[in-house]
Amino acid sequence: MPDKKDYYEILGIKRNATKDEIKAAYRNLAKKFHPDLNKENPKLAEEKFKEISEAYEVLVDDKKRARYDQYGHAGVAQDFGKEGFTWQDFSHVSDLEDIFGHDIFSDFFGRGSIFSDFFGRRREYFEQPGRERRAKEVQVEITLEQAYRGVSTEVPIPHMEKCVDCGGAGAAKGTPPKTCTYCHGRGEVQQQQLQGFGRIIKIGACPVCKGRGKVIEHPCPTCHGSGEIQKLDKINVRIPPGVDNGTTLKISADKTGGRLKEDIYVTLHIRPHPVFHRQGSDIYIERTISVTEATLGTKVEVPTLDGTAVMKIPPGTQNGTLFRLRGSGMPYLRDQGYGDQYVRIFINTPRNLTKRQRELLEEFERIEKKK
Ligand SMILES: [Zn+2]
Ligand SMILES: [Zn+2]
Repeated sequence: MPDKKDYYEILGIKRNATKDEIKAAYRNLAKKFHPDLNKENPKLAEEKFKEISEAYEVLVDDKKRARYDQYGHAGVAQDFGKEGFTWQDFSHVSDLEDIFGHDIFSDFFGRGSIFSDFFGRRREYFEQPGRERRAKEVQVEITLEQAYRGVSTEVPIPHMEKCVDCGGAGAAKGTPPKTCTYCHGRGEVQQQQLQGFGRIIKIGACPVCKGRGKVIEHPCPTCHGSGEIQKLDKINVRIPPGVDNGTTLKISADKTGGRLKEDIYVTLHIRPHPVFHRQGSDIYIERTISVTEATLGTKVEVPTLDGTAVMKIPPGTQNGTLFRLRGSGMPYLRDQGYGDQYVRIFINTPRNLTKRQRELLEEFERIEKKK
């Protein structure tokens, strides 16, 4: 290895600098050498920027710093590829975001500069875990009637399948993947760690090629380089009576006869109903009656989730009165029994009276006042 500059010298700090001092030094230098701020010589600025980032990568990490302090550059050579530090080795992306804001990645990516591999790695690290999470949770919308009775329904479960267009390699036609320079195509890397007086060697999947041994330069347009595309598998799910908005059902993979590789969580959403309004296990509806019905009392038919119910309206019922139909609400999800249905009564004041109706009402009013 050619003579390399001392990391502490590069960052302009003392050998006993604290982590805060290291961060502050990197922050100042990163601002100074940001290629976009050095229009007259961006190439040199990029080199400087890479140099300080390498120093920062080592010194801000306690383990790497300890090895560097003890063995110099040889102590951290194993952390980087054969050609030394590249942007693929930089693991403090978020610190750069703190300094420059999130735009830094689109800036760099857009220019197609040396930073594009840096951006590519960030996508791998930050987008893939999200895709896994989405695959494990599925949202399903059902009607209130289905929630009341329970329902067996087919739920589309996304799963990944090998991309047919690239045979799972992830590379566009005619552009075979290149051997990964980080692991030299082995797909795994050794990491030595000093522990006490000994050292332990850990072997793990290569962080750059994710154990594939190959790196894709021109991604397949169908699968965008992942080598997989999402397919939907339909799984029959039994939804029990009484589920509510946000109820989550678990489908155990071992109960699907090998069709699912992992457990799936189905989160239910109940479509709003035009007539029935649900609150927990109770159902609310509105019913309008005439003045005469309210005054004299009557029996009315009201819809329920189970059909209809006949409800007695007592004489002298006031506008806005709430009546309860016991047991006509939603079934309890984890218990026997049902909630209640509440019916709010609204009184319809008559309009467009005939002459005769007016006379009768006026007479009614005279008698009412004499009482
Ligand atoms: Zn493909
Ligand atoms: Zn590799």
